[in-house]
Amino acid sequence: MSELTFTPIDDIPKIVKELRETFLTGLTRPLAYRKEQLKGLHNLIAENEALFKESVYRDLRKPPQELMVGEIGTIRQEAIDAIKHLDQWAAPQYVKTTLLNRMNKPHIRKSPLGTVLIIGAWNLPINLLLAPAVGAIAAGNCVILKPSEVSTHTAALLTTLLPKYLDPRSVRIINGAAAETTVLLEQKFDHMFYTGSGNIGKIIMAAAAKQLTPVTLELGGKSPAFVSKNVDIAVAARRLAWGKLFNTGQACIAPDYLIVERGIEQELVKEMKLAIQEFYGASPQTSQSYGRIINNNHFHRLKRLLDTTRGEIVVGGDSQEDDLYIAPTIVLDVKLDDPLMESEIFGPILPIWVVDTINEGIEYVNRNDQPLALYVYSHDMKLANHILDNTRSGGAVINDSLVQFMVTALPFGGTGPSGIGSYHGKRSFDIFSHERATLVKNLGMQKALAISYPPYTEKKTSWLEWLLFDKVKYPDNAILKGNKKFG
Ligand code: NAD
Repeated sequence: MSELTFTPIDDIPKIVKELRETFLTGLTRPLAYRKEQLKGLHNLIAENEALFKESVYRDLRKPPQELMVGEIGTIRQEAIDAIKHLDQWAAPQYVKTTLLNRMNKPHIRKSPLGTVLIIGAWNLPINLLLAPAVGAIAAGNCVILKPSEVSTHTAALLTTLLPKYLDPRSVRIINGAAAETTVLLEQKFDHMFYTGSGNIGKIIMAAAAKQLTPVTLELGGKSPAFVSKNVDIAVAARRLAWGKLFNTGQACIAPDYLIVERGIEQELVKEMKLAIQEFYGASPQTSQSYGRIINNNHFHRLKRLLDTTRGEIVVGGDSQEDDLYIAPTIVLDVKLDDPLMESEIFGPILPIWVVDTINEGIEYVNRNDQPLALYVYSHDMKLANHILDNTRSGGAVINDSLVQFMVTALPFGGTGPSGIGSYHGKRSFDIFSHERATLVKNLGMQKALAISYPPYTEKKTSWLEWLLFDKVKYPDNAILKGNKKFG
Protein backbone atom coordinates (compact mmCIF):
# COMPACT_ATOMS: atom_id res chain seq x y z
CA MET A 1 0.00 0.00 0.00
CA SER A 2 1.53 3.33 -1.03
CA GLU A 3 2.24 6.28 1.26
CA LEU A 4 0.23 9.49 1.08
CA THR A 5 2.06 12.35 -0.60
CA PHE A 6 0.64 15.85 -0.55
CA THR A 7 -0.03 17.63 -3.82
CA PRO A 8 2.70 20.24 -4.45
CA ILE A 9 1.17 23.61 -3.59
CA ASP A 10 2.19 25.13 -6.95
CA ASP A 11 0.28 22.42 -8.81
CA ILE A 12 -3.04 23.18 -7.11
CA PRO A 13 -4.08 26.26 -9.15
CA LYS A 14 -3.01 24.46 -12.35
CA ILE A 15 -5.13 21.39 -11.59
CA VAL A 16 -8.21 23.49 -10.82
CA LYS A 17 -7.65 25.53 -13.99
CA GLU A 18 -7.38 22.33 -16.07
CA LEU A 19 -10.71 21.12 -14.74
CA ARG A 20 -12.36 24.47 -15.37
CA GLU A 21 -11.11 24.28 -18.97
CA THR A 22 -12.46 20.73 -19.28
CA PHE A 23 -15.85 21.91 -18.14
CA LEU A 24 -15.89 24.55 -20.86
CA THR A 25 -15.32 21.88 -23.51
CA GLY A 26 -18.68 20.31 -22.60
CA LEU A 27 -17.10 16.89 -21.94
CA THR A 28 -19.11 16.25 -18.76
CA ARG A 29 -22.50 17.34 -20.08
CA PRO A 30 -23.78 14.26 -21.99
CA LEU A 31 -25.73 11.88 -19.76
CA ALA A 32 -23.93 8.89 -21.31
CA TYR A 33 -20.56 10.31 -20.15
CA ARG A 34 -21.89 10.90 -16.65
CA LYS A 35 -23.24 7.35 -16.44
CA GLU A 36 -19.88 5.92 -17.53
CA GLN A 37 -18.18 7.91 -14.77
CA LEU A 38 -20.75 6.75 -12.22
CA LYS A 39 -20.13 3.15 -13.27
CA GLY A 40 -16.43 3.79 -12.81
CA LEU A 41 -17.02 5.16 -9.33
CA HIS A 42 -19.17 2.15 -8.45
CA ASN A 43 -16.58 -0.30 -9.76
CA LEU A 44 -13.75 1.50 -8.02
CA ILE A 45 -15.43 0.45 -4.78
CA ALA A 46 -16.79 -2.91 -5.90
CA GLU A 47 -13.53 -4.22 -7.36
CA ASN A 48 -11.26 -3.06 -4.55
CA GLU A 49 -13.12 -4.04 -1.42
CA ALA A 50 -10.16 -5.99 -0.05
CA LEU A 51 -7.85 -2.99 -0.44
CA PHE A 52 -10.36 -0.67 1.23
CA LYS A 53 -10.78 -3.16 4.08
CA GLU A 54 -7.06 -2.99 4.62
CA SER A 55 -6.80 0.80 4.36
CA VAL A 56 -9.62 1.57 6.82
CA TYR A 57 -8.27 -1.11 9.13
CA ARG A 58 -4.94 0.66 9.14
CA ASP A 59 -6.59 4.04 9.68
CA LEU A 60 -9.26 3.18 12.23
CA ARG A 61 -9.14 -0.60 12.82
CA LYS A 62 -12.57 -0.41 11.22
CA PRO A 63 -14.31 -3.83 11.25
CA PRO A 64 -15.36 -5.04 7.74
CA GLN A 65 -19.05 -5.02 8.65
CA GLU A 66 -18.89 -1.35 9.66
CA LEU A 67 -17.06 -0.63 6.41
CA MET A 68 -19.89 -2.33 4.52
CA VAL A 69 -22.70 -0.57 6.38
CA GLY A 70 -21.16 2.90 6.73
CA GLU A 71 -19.20 3.20 3.50
CA ILE A 72 -19.14 0.61 0.74
CA GLY A 73 -22.81 -0.45 0.78
CA THR A 74 -24.13 3.10 0.93
CA ILE A 75 -21.87 4.49 -1.80
CA ARG A 76 -22.63 1.60 -4.12
CA GLN A 77 -26.33 2.19 -3.55
CA GLU A 78 -25.91 5.93 -4.19
CA ALA A 79 -24.12 5.20 -7.49
CA ILE A 80 -26.66 2.57 -8.58
CA ASP A 81 -29.51 4.94 -7.70
CA ALA A 82 -27.95 7.73 -9.75
CA ILE A 83 -27.26 5.53 -12.80
CA LYS A 84 -30.82 4.17 -12.66
CA HIS A 85 -32.57 7.52 -12.25
CA LEU A 86 -30.28 9.96 -14.03
CA ASP A 87 -32.48 10.33 -17.13
CA GLN A 88 -35.43 11.20 -14.92
CA TRP A 89 -33.47 13.50 -12.57
CA ALA A 90 -31.95 15.42 -15.47
CA ALA A 91 -35.16 15.70 -17.51
CA PRO A 92 -36.76 19.15 -17.83
CA GLN A 93 -39.54 19.71 -15.29
CA TYR A 94 -42.55 21.49 -16.71
CA VAL A 95 -44.36 23.83 -14.35
CA LYS A 96 -47.89 25.18 -14.16
CA THR A 97 -48.50 28.84 -14.79
CA THR A 98 -51.18 31.45 -15.45
CA LEU A 99 -52.92 31.93 -18.78
CA LEU A 100 -50.39 34.54 -19.95
CA ASN A 101 -47.50 32.06 -20.18
CA ARG A 102 -49.27 28.73 -20.49
CA MET A 103 -48.31 28.37 -24.16
CA ASN A 104 -44.64 29.11 -23.50
CA LYS A 105 -43.67 25.74 -22.05
CA PRO A 106 -42.22 27.10 -18.80
CA HIS A 107 -39.83 24.53 -17.37
CA ILE A 108 -36.81 23.97 -15.18
CA ARG A 109 -33.66 22.69 -16.85
CA LYS A 110 -31.11 21.05 -14.61
CA SER A 111 -27.73 22.38 -15.61
CA PRO A 112 -24.33 21.53 -14.12
CA LEU A 113 -22.75 24.15 -11.86
CA GLY A 114 -19.24 23.85 -13.34
CA THR A 115 -16.22 22.80 -11.29
CA VAL A 116 -16.92 21.84 -7.70
CA LEU A 117 -14.82 21.05 -4.65
CA ILE A 118 -15.60 18.23 -2.21
CA ILE A 119 -13.70 18.08 1.08
CA GLY A 120 -14.08 14.87 3.10
CA ALA A 121 -13.54 13.97 6.77
CA TRP A 122 -11.57 11.08 8.26
CA ASN A 123 -14.20 9.12 10.14
CA LEU A 124 -15.90 7.70 7.03
CA PRO A 125 -13.05 8.48 4.66
CA ILE A 126 -14.52 6.81 1.58
CA ASN A 127 -18.18 7.63 1.97
CA LEU A 128 -17.87 11.29 2.92
CA LEU A 129 -15.79 11.92 -0.18
CA LEU A 130 -17.42 9.68 -2.77
CA ALA A 131 -21.12 9.90 -1.80
CA PRO A 132 -21.25 13.63 -2.60
CA ALA A 133 -19.10 12.93 -5.67
CA VAL A 134 -21.90 10.73 -7.01
CA GLY A 135 -24.22 13.75 -7.03
CA ALA A 136 -21.60 16.06 -8.49
CA ILE A 137 -20.74 13.68 -11.35
CA ALA A 138 -24.39 12.81 -12.02
CA ALA A 139 -25.13 16.53 -12.33
CA GLY A 140 -22.41 16.90 -15.01
CA ASN A 141 -19.72 18.77 -13.09
CA CYS A 142 -15.95 18.56 -12.99
CA VAL A 143 -14.91 17.55 -9.50
CA ILE A 144 -11.92 18.13 -7.25
CA LEU A 145 -11.81 15.72 -4.33
CA LYS A 146 -9.87 16.58 -1.18
CA PRO A 147 -9.72 13.57 1.17
CA SER A 148 -8.93 14.03 4.83
CA GLU A 149 -5.18 13.79 5.38
CA VAL A 150 -5.92 12.32 8.83
CA SER A 151 -7.12 9.00 7.38
CA THR A 152 -3.79 8.66 5.55
CA HIS A 153 -4.00 5.11 4.22
CA THR A 154 -7.43 5.52 2.68
CA ALA A 155 -6.47 8.87 1.13
CA ALA A 156 -3.39 7.22 -0.43
CA LEU A 157 -5.44 4.31 -1.75
CA LEU A 158 -8.08 6.59 -3.26
CA THR A 159 -5.33 8.62 -4.93
CA THR A 160 -3.93 5.49 -6.59
CA LEU A 161 -7.27 4.04 -7.65
CA LEU A 162 -9.20 7.08 -8.77
CA PRO A 163 -7.44 7.73 -12.11
CA LYS A 164 -7.90 4.06 -13.03
CA TYR A 165 -11.67 4.31 -12.79
CA LEU A 166 -12.58 7.96 -13.39
CA ASP A 167 -11.58 10.27 -16.21
CA PRO A 168 -8.75 12.48 -14.86
CA ARG A 169 -9.83 15.20 -17.26
CA SER A 170 -12.94 15.74 -15.12
CA VAL A 171 -12.22 14.25 -11.67
CA ARG A 172 -9.01 14.82 -9.72
CA ILE A 173 -7.76 14.31 -6.19
CA ILE A 174 -5.76 16.93 -4.30
CA ASN A 175 -4.07 15.85 -1.09
CA GLY A 176 -2.85 17.93 1.78
CA ALA A 177 -3.49 19.47 5.17
CA ALA A 178 -4.31 23.06 6.16
CA ALA A 179 -1.65 24.70 3.91
CA GLU A 180 -2.75 22.88 0.74
CA THR A 181 -6.44 23.30 1.57
CA THR A 182 -5.92 27.03 2.11
CA VAL A 183 -4.51 27.37 -1.43
CA LEU A 184 -7.29 25.18 -2.77
CA LEU A 185 -9.89 27.42 -1.15
CA GLU A 186 -8.41 30.46 -2.90
CA GLN A 187 -9.28 28.96 -6.30
CA LYS A 188 -12.51 29.70 -8.09
CA PHE A 189 -15.12 26.96 -7.67
CA ASP A 190 -18.79 26.86 -8.55
CA HIS A 191 -19.72 25.02 -5.35
CA MET A 192 -17.89 23.88 -2.22
CA PHE A 193 -19.09 20.83 -0.32
CA TYR A 194 -17.41 20.32 3.04
CA THR A 195 -17.76 17.64 5.72
CA GLY A 196 -16.05 18.13 9.07
CA SER A 197 -16.06 20.25 12.17
CA GLY A 198 -17.88 23.56 12.46
CA ASN A 199 -14.65 25.43 13.21
CA ILE A 200 -13.15 24.55 9.84
CA GLY A 201 -16.61 24.98 8.34
CA LYS A 202 -16.35 28.68 9.20
CA ILE A 203 -13.01 28.89 7.34
CA ILE A 204 -14.58 27.21 4.31
CA MET A 205 -17.56 29.53 4.32
CA ALA A 206 -15.40 32.64 4.72
CA ALA A 207 -13.24 31.55 1.76
CA ALA A 208 -16.35 30.82 -0.31
CA ALA A 209 -17.85 34.20 0.56
CA LYS A 210 -14.87 35.97 -1.02
CA GLN A 211 -15.92 34.57 -4.41
CA LEU A 212 -19.65 34.28 -3.71
CA THR A 213 -19.34 30.51 -4.05
CA PRO A 214 -22.32 28.56 -2.68
CA VAL A 215 -21.55 25.98 0.02
CA THR A 216 -22.92 22.84 1.51
CA LEU A 217 -21.58 22.27 5.02
CA GLU A 218 -22.02 18.88 6.66
CA LEU A 219 -21.02 19.51 10.26
CA GLY A 220 -21.56 17.87 13.63
CA GLY A 221 -22.71 18.70 17.13
CA LYS A 222 -24.02 17.09 20.27
CA SER A 223 -26.85 14.77 19.22
CA PRO A 224 -29.06 13.84 22.18
CA ALA A 225 -31.01 10.63 22.74
CA PHE A 226 -34.07 10.82 24.98
CA VAL A 227 -34.97 7.62 26.84
CA SER A 228 -38.40 7.66 28.43
CA LYS A 229 -39.64 5.44 31.27
CA ASN A 230 -42.10 3.91 28.92
CA VAL A 231 -39.69 1.86 26.83
CA ASP A 232 -38.39 -1.68 26.45
CA ILE A 233 -35.11 -1.00 28.23
CA ALA A 234 -33.30 -4.12 26.96
CA VAL A 235 -34.10 -3.27 23.34
CA ALA A 236 -33.28 0.44 23.73
CA ALA A 237 -29.96 -0.45 25.43
CA ARG A 238 -28.84 -2.64 22.52
CA ARG A 239 -29.80 -0.10 19.87
CA LEU A 240 -28.10 2.69 21.80
CA ALA A 241 -24.94 0.66 22.39
CA TRP A 242 -24.70 -0.15 18.67
CA GLY A 243 -25.42 3.44 17.61
CA LYS A 244 -22.89 4.88 20.05
CA LEU A 245 -20.09 2.38 19.45
CA PHE A 246 -20.32 2.04 15.67
CA ASN A 247 -16.97 3.32 14.32
CA THR A 248 -15.89 3.60 17.97
CA GLY A 249 -18.25 6.51 18.48
CA GLN A 250 -16.53 8.51 15.74
CA ALA A 251 -19.72 9.20 13.82
CA CYS A 252 -21.31 12.60 13.33
CA ILE A 253 -24.77 11.21 14.10
CA ALA A 254 -23.78 9.02 17.04
CA PRO A 255 -25.91 9.66 20.14
CA ASP A 256 -23.63 12.07 22.00
CA TYR A 257 -25.41 11.96 25.36
CA LEU A 258 -28.53 10.42 26.89
CA ILE A 259 -31.40 12.27 28.53
CA VAL A 260 -32.93 9.58 30.73
CA GLU A 261 -36.11 9.82 32.80
CA ARG A 262 -35.34 9.25 36.46
CA GLY A 263 -36.05 5.73 37.70
CA ILE A 264 -34.78 3.67 34.77
CA GLU A 265 -31.12 4.74 34.72
CA GLN A 266 -29.72 1.79 36.70
CA GLU A 267 -31.63 -0.76 34.62
CA LEU A 268 -30.54 0.99 31.41
CA VAL A 269 -26.88 0.93 32.46
CA LYS A 270 -27.16 -2.77 33.42
CA GLU A 271 -28.66 -3.61 30.01
CA MET A 272 -26.11 -1.52 28.09
CA LYS A 273 -23.30 -3.24 29.98
CA LEU A 274 -24.78 -6.60 28.96
CA ALA A 275 -25.16 -5.41 25.36
CA ILE A 276 -21.51 -4.31 25.24
CA GLN A 277 -20.45 -7.73 26.52
CA GLU A 278 -22.62 -9.47 23.94
CA PHE A 279 -21.14 -7.33 21.16
CA TYR A 280 -17.45 -7.31 22.11
CA GLY A 281 -16.97 -10.01 24.78
CA ALA A 282 -15.39 -9.45 28.16
CA SER A 283 -12.42 -7.61 26.63
CA PRO A 284 -13.43 -5.21 23.83
CA GLN A 285 -9.75 -4.46 23.19
CA THR A 286 -9.28 -7.95 21.77
CA SER A 287 -12.54 -7.95 19.80
CA GLN A 288 -12.33 -7.82 16.00
CA SER A 289 -15.64 -5.92 16.05
CA TYR A 290 -14.30 -2.90 17.93
CA GLY A 291 -12.24 -0.17 16.26
CA ARG A 292 -9.68 2.36 17.45
CA ILE A 293 -9.37 6.11 17.89
CA ILE A 294 -8.02 7.75 14.74
CA ASN A 295 -4.83 9.29 16.20
CA ASN A 296 -2.99 10.52 19.28
CA ASN A 297 -4.60 13.96 19.26
CA HIS A 298 -8.08 12.55 19.42
CA PHE A 299 -6.99 9.88 21.92
CA HIS A 300 -5.69 12.57 24.28
CA ARG A 301 -8.78 14.73 23.78
CA LEU A 302 -10.98 11.79 24.83
CA LYS A 303 -8.66 10.72 27.65
CA ARG A 304 -8.86 14.25 29.07
CA LEU A 305 -12.64 13.95 29.11
CA LEU A 306 -12.39 10.66 31.00
CA ASP A 307 -9.95 12.17 33.49
CA THR A 308 -11.93 15.32 34.17
CA THR A 309 -15.54 14.15 34.21
CA ARG A 310 -17.28 14.50 37.55
CA GLY A 311 -19.82 11.82 36.61
CA GLU A 312 -19.60 8.20 37.75
CA ILE A 313 -17.86 5.89 35.25
CA VAL A 314 -20.07 2.83 35.50
CA VAL A 315 -18.88 0.92 32.41
CA GLY A 316 -15.38 0.88 30.85
CA GLY A 317 -13.19 3.92 31.43
CA ASP A 318 -9.93 2.10 30.63
CA SER A 319 -7.65 3.05 27.77
CA GLN A 320 -4.26 2.25 26.24
CA GLU A 321 -2.38 4.99 24.44
CA ASP A 322 -0.02 2.89 22.31
CA ASP A 323 -3.01 0.93 20.98
CA LEU A 324 -5.21 4.07 20.59
CA TYR A 325 -7.79 2.10 22.55
CA ILE A 326 -10.56 3.63 24.58
CA ALA A 327 -13.05 1.18 26.08
CA PRO A 328 -16.77 1.50 25.54
CA THR A 329 -17.56 3.80 28.43
CA ILE A 330 -20.76 4.92 30.16
CA VAL A 331 -20.72 7.80 32.61
CA LEU A 332 -23.76 8.08 34.87
CA ASP A 333 -25.20 11.14 36.53
CA VAL A 334 -23.42 13.70 34.46
CA LYS A 335 -24.36 17.30 35.29
CA LEU A 336 -24.80 19.96 32.65
CA ASP A 337 -21.57 21.75 33.57
CA ASP A 338 -19.49 18.57 33.16
CA PRO A 339 -16.63 18.63 30.58
CA LEU A 340 -18.47 15.81 28.78
CA MET A 341 -21.34 18.20 28.05
CA GLU A 342 -19.17 20.99 26.62
CA SER A 343 -18.60 19.86 23.04
CA GLU A 344 -19.19 16.95 20.68
CA ILE A 345 -17.55 13.82 22.15
CA PHE A 346 -16.86 11.96 18.88
CA GLY A 347 -15.65 8.84 20.68
CA PRO A 348 -16.92 5.83 22.66
CA ILE A 349 -17.90 7.72 25.83
CA LEU A 350 -21.60 8.03 26.63
CA PRO A 351 -22.70 10.42 29.38
CA ILE A 352 -26.12 9.98 30.96
CA TRP A 353 -28.00 12.98 32.25
CA VAL A 354 -30.92 11.94 34.47
CA VAL A 355 -33.97 14.22 34.39
CA ASP A 356 -37.17 14.39 36.40
CA THR A 357 -39.23 15.31 33.37
CA ILE A 358 -38.67 14.97 29.64
CA ASN A 359 -39.53 18.67 29.30
CA GLU A 360 -36.32 19.52 31.20
CA GLY A 361 -34.43 17.76 28.43
CA ILE A 362 -36.40 19.53 25.72
CA GLU A 363 -35.61 22.88 27.26
CA TYR A 364 -31.90 22.06 27.47
CA VAL A 365 -31.75 20.89 23.84
CA ASN A 366 -33.53 24.04 22.71
CA ARG A 367 -31.16 26.34 24.57
CA ASN A 368 -28.16 24.80 22.83
CA ASP A 369 -26.97 24.50 19.23
CA GLN A 370 -29.33 22.56 16.98
CA PRO A 371 -27.91 19.03 16.75
CA LEU A 372 -27.36 17.00 13.59
CA ALA A 373 -29.51 14.16 14.93
CA LEU A 374 -32.00 13.66 17.72
CA TYR A 375 -33.18 10.29 18.99
CA VAL A 376 -36.16 9.29 21.09
CA TYR A 377 -36.58 5.90 22.69
CA SER A 378 -40.15 5.38 23.87
CA HIS A 379 -43.23 3.21 23.35
CA ASP A 380 -45.29 6.34 23.81
CA MET A 381 -45.74 7.88 20.35
CA LYS A 382 -47.51 10.87 21.87
CA LEU A 383 -44.42 11.64 23.91
CA ALA A 384 -42.09 10.98 20.96
CA ASN A 385 -44.10 13.37 18.80
CA HIS A 386 -44.14 15.93 21.61
CA ILE A 387 -40.31 15.84 21.68
CA LEU A 388 -40.00 16.07 17.90
CA ASP A 389 -42.62 18.81 17.65
CA ASN A 390 -40.83 20.95 20.22
CA THR A 391 -37.17 20.62 19.24
CA ARG A 392 -34.99 21.20 16.16
CA SER A 393 -32.36 18.89 14.63
CA GLY A 394 -30.97 17.88 11.22
CA GLY A 395 -32.69 14.48 11.36
CA ALA A 396 -34.51 12.35 13.93
CA VAL A 397 -35.20 8.69 14.65
CA ILE A 398 -37.71 7.20 17.04
CA ASN A 399 -36.47 3.98 18.67
CA ASP A 400 -33.11 3.59 16.96
CA SER A 401 -29.92 5.51 16.13
CA LEU A 402 -27.83 6.04 12.95
CA VAL A 403 -30.25 4.27 10.62
CA GLN A 404 -31.44 7.51 8.97
CA PHE A 405 -28.07 7.62 7.22
CA MET A 406 -28.91 4.55 5.14
CA VAL A 407 -32.18 5.81 3.67
CA THR A 408 -30.91 7.59 0.58
CA ALA A 409 -34.31 9.13 -0.14
CA LEU A 410 -34.14 11.12 3.12
CA PRO A 411 -32.26 14.43 3.26
CA PHE A 412 -29.02 14.05 5.21
CA GLY A 413 -27.81 17.30 6.72
CA GLY A 414 -27.91 19.61 9.67
CA THR A 415 -29.63 22.78 10.68
CA GLY A 416 -28.03 25.89 12.18
CA PRO A 417 -24.55 25.07 13.51
CA SER A 418 -24.89 21.39 12.53
CA GLY A 419 -24.84 22.25 8.84
CA ILE A 420 -26.12 23.99 5.75
CA GLY A 421 -27.84 21.97 3.03
CA SER A 422 -28.52 18.27 2.73
CA TYR A 423 -27.71 15.45 0.32
CA HIS A 424 -28.10 11.72 -0.52
CA GLY A 425 -30.05 10.26 -3.43
CA LYS A 426 -31.65 12.77 -5.78
CA ARG A 427 -30.82 15.63 -3.39
CA SER A 428 -27.11 15.12 -4.13
CA PHE A 429 -27.88 15.59 -7.82
CA ASP A 430 -29.97 18.68 -7.03
CA ILE A 431 -27.39 20.47 -4.90
CA PHE A 432 -24.81 20.16 -7.67
CA SER A 433 -27.28 21.35 -10.34
CA HIS A 434 -28.59 24.76 -11.17
CA GLU A 435 -32.34 25.02 -11.69
CA ARG A 436 -32.43 27.08 -14.82
CA ALA A 437 -35.78 28.77 -15.37
CA THR A 438 -36.63 28.45 -19.06
CA LEU A 439 -39.47 29.45 -21.37
CA VAL A 440 -39.84 28.58 -25.03
CA LYS A 441 -41.82 31.18 -26.96
CA ASN A 442 -43.30 30.72 -30.35
CA LEU A 443 -42.15 33.39 -32.80
CA GLY A 444 -45.68 33.76 -34.10
CA MET A 445 -48.62 35.48 -32.37
CA GLN A 446 -46.84 38.83 -32.36
CA LYS A 447 -50.16 40.65 -32.67
CA ALA A 448 -51.47 39.15 -29.47
CA LEU A 449 -48.27 40.11 -27.69
CA ALA A 450 -48.76 43.73 -28.62
CA ILE A 451 -50.90 44.11 -25.47
CA SER A 452 -47.66 44.03 -23.43
CA TYR A 453 -46.00 46.84 -25.36
CA PRO A 454 -46.28 50.62 -25.12
CA PRO A 455 -48.14 52.74 -25.71
CA TYR A 456 -50.00 51.42 -22.66
CA THR A 457 -53.75 51.85 -22.63
CA GLU A 458 -56.48 51.04 -20.13
CA LYS A 459 -57.76 48.35 -22.42
CA LYS A 460 -54.37 46.62 -22.61
CA THR A 461 -54.00 46.83 -18.83
CA SER A 462 -57.37 45.23 -18.23
CA TRP A 463 -56.55 42.41 -20.67
CA LEU A 464 -53.31 41.81 -18.84
CA GLU A 465 -55.07 41.87 -15.49
CA TRP A 466 -57.30 39.11 -16.76
CA LEU A 467 -54.35 37.04 -18.00
CA LEU A 468 -51.87 37.63 -15.19
CA PHE A 469 -53.45 36.00 -12.14
CA ASP A 470 -55.87 33.26 -11.26
CA LYS A 471 -59.40 34.35 -10.49
CA VAL A 472 -60.37 33.05 -7.07
CA LYS A 473 -63.99 32.02 -6.93
CA TYR A 474 -64.48 31.06 -3.28
CA PRO A 475 -65.36 33.31 -0.29
CA ASP A 476 -61.68 34.04 0.46
CA ASN A 477 -61.88 36.26 -2.58
CA ALA A 478 -63.17 38.88 -0.20
CA ILE A 479 -59.91 38.73 1.78
CA LEU A 480 -57.84 38.86 -1.39
CA LYS A 481 -59.68 41.98 -2.48
CA GLY A 482 -58.94 43.57 0.90
CA ASN A 483 -62.58 43.63 1.98
CA LYS A 484 -62.74 45.76 5.12
CA LYS A 485 -64.95 43.24 6.88
CA PHE A 486 -62.03 40.77 6.88
CA GLY A 487 -59.37 43.36 7.63
P1 NAD B 1 -10.93 16.46 9.51
O1 NAD B 1 -9.85 16.79 10.49
O2 NAD B 1 -10.72 15.32 8.60
O3 NAD B 1 -11.22 17.79 8.71
C1 NAD B 1 -12.14 17.81 7.65
C2 NAD B 1 -11.47 18.40 6.44
O4 NAD B 1 -11.07 19.75 6.69
C3 NAD B 1 -10.20 17.66 6.02
O5 NAD B 1 -10.25 17.37 4.63
C4 NAD B 1 -9.09 18.62 6.37
O6 NAD B 1 -7.97 18.52 5.52
C5 NAD B 1 -9.75 19.97 6.22
N1 NAD B 1 -9.05 20.98 7.03
C6 NAD B 1 -8.45 20.81 8.22
N2 NAD B 1 -7.91 21.98 8.66
C7 NAD B 1 -8.18 22.90 7.71
C8 NAD B 1 -7.91 24.31 7.58
N3 NAD B 1 -7.26 24.99 8.50
N4 NAD B 1 -8.35 24.93 6.47
C9 NAD B 1 -9.05 24.25 5.54
N5 NAD B 1 -9.34 22.92 5.62
C10 NAD B 1 -8.92 22.26 6.68
O7 NAD B 1 -12.25 16.15 10.23
P2 NAD B 1 -12.82 16.74 11.55
O8 NAD B 1 -13.09 18.20 11.36
O9 NAD B 1 -12.04 16.28 12.72
O10 NAD B 1 -14.20 15.91 11.53
C11 NAD B 1 -14.92 15.68 12.65
C12 NAD B 1 -16.14 16.59 12.67
O11 NAD B 1 -16.84 16.41 11.45
C13 NAD B 1 -17.11 16.27 13.75
O12 NAD B 1 -17.63 17.46 14.28
C14 NAD B 1 -18.21 15.51 13.05
O13 NAD B 1 -19.45 15.58 13.68
C15 NAD B 1 -18.20 16.17 11.72
N6 NAD B 1 -18.70 15.25 10.69
C16 NAD B 1 -19.86 15.57 10.09
C17 NAD B 1 -20.39 14.69 9.16
C18 NAD B 1 -21.68 14.98 8.45
O14 NAD B 1 -21.97 14.29 7.49
N7 NAD B 1 -22.45 15.97 8.87
C19 NAD B 1 -19.72 13.51 8.87
C20 NAD B 1 -18.53 13.24 9.51
C21 NAD B 1 -18.02 14.12 10.42
